Amino acid sequence: MSDCIFCKIIEKKVPARILYEDDVVLAFEDISPHAPVHTLIVPKQHISTLLDISDSDLYLFGHMFKVANRIAHEKDIAERGFRLVANCNAEGGQLVYHLHMHLLGGRQMISPFG
Ligand code: 5GP
Ligand code: ZN
Repeated sequence: MSDCIFCKIIEKKVPARILYEDDVVLAFEDISPHAPVHTLIVPKQHISTLLDISDSDLYLFGHMFKVANRIAHEKDIAERGFRLVANCNAEGGQLVYHLHMHLLGGRQMISPFG
């Protein structure tokens, strides 16, 4: 999608600190981190929100969890603990309309319900 910032990062038209890449997903550092570890894991395919997934996309989520697991180990936060977040639409706090998962860690997380 031409006006999507994450698609531009995937296409390497916009720079990002990339941590992991394969045919299906890209993981890169969040530009405005909320924790010592704040990584975004995104499917390479443009899917706007969690509401837009189809049955054929379901494999993506297992894959994104696997990549989160890998990065948590690489960042040495696996045993301490971490949080995965996927925001959907305005009241969910979604700002970028390209499906993504936040991997947050390196500090104590507080209530997720605020
Ligand atoms: P959302 O609120 O949509 O779940 O999260 C979007 C995230 O994308 C935010 O944490 C924001 O800091 C990050 N972000 C927005 N634009 C860019 C960018 O150009 N590069 C990177 N690396 N992260 C971005
Ligand atoms: Zn996109």
